[in-house]
Amino acid sequence: LFEPPDEAQAPAVSSPARIGPNAVIQTGQALTTLYGTGVTAQIYAAAGLGRYRDNPPDAMIDEREPKALFAAIGQALPAPEADRVLTEAGRRTAGYILENRIPPLARKLLTHLPPPVAARLLVSAIARHAWTFAGSGHFKGRVRGWRQPMVIVSIDKNPLATPGCPWHGAVFERLFATLTTTHVSVDHPRCCARDDSCCEWEIKSAAGPLPQARRLR
Ligand SMILES: [Zn+2]
Repeated sequence: LFEPPDEAQAPAVSSPARIGPNAVIQTGQALTTLYGTGVTAQIYAAAGLGRYRDNPPDAMIDEREPKALFAAIGQALPAPEADRVLTEAGRRTAGYILENRIPPLARKLLTHLPPPVAARLLVSAIARHAWTFAGSGHFKGRVRGWRQPMVIVSIDKNPLATPGCPWHGAVFERLFATLTTTHVSVDHPRCCARDDSCCEWEIKSAAGPLPQARRLR
């Protein structure tokens, strides 16, 4: 379903764990869009990532780098603003995945399948590529029910957890909303940043426009 990332093979377990560069790239773009280059440069410097300002990473990176960037955002900005940046970064990351990682045929197929079937296909595709965003964390996903399916995904020891995980929530929301149904609601009942052992999300269809209004967003 997904096209393989440029580095096609999942890396062997290594220390430190690696993660896809989009967690940094898209976050930088969200920061610049919302706050400008000056604030972005300061936050990158605080995260120890100044070298990425003009040369964004183009290969798998140490998972501690986006973790440091997310933390620096949380320290530099009031919580609602930090969440806004991470939500925008997550939306952009999902947009990147939709544009670059999901072949047009698969995209078309998913949006024409019944949502319970599309949700199951999408969960299994995400699971196969989870190493690109879960790093050292362990991803699991399943779909419960057919008439009103609920997607339950989790990352044990999520390395990029921030309270409420707005980045992950936005990634999942945009992917599932675009590819399986028009509107989804995403709940995050358990969170590593709130002392749970895993981050868990519940994604379900929310009332929205008729299916024919569905389109790539
Ligand atoms: Zn979380």
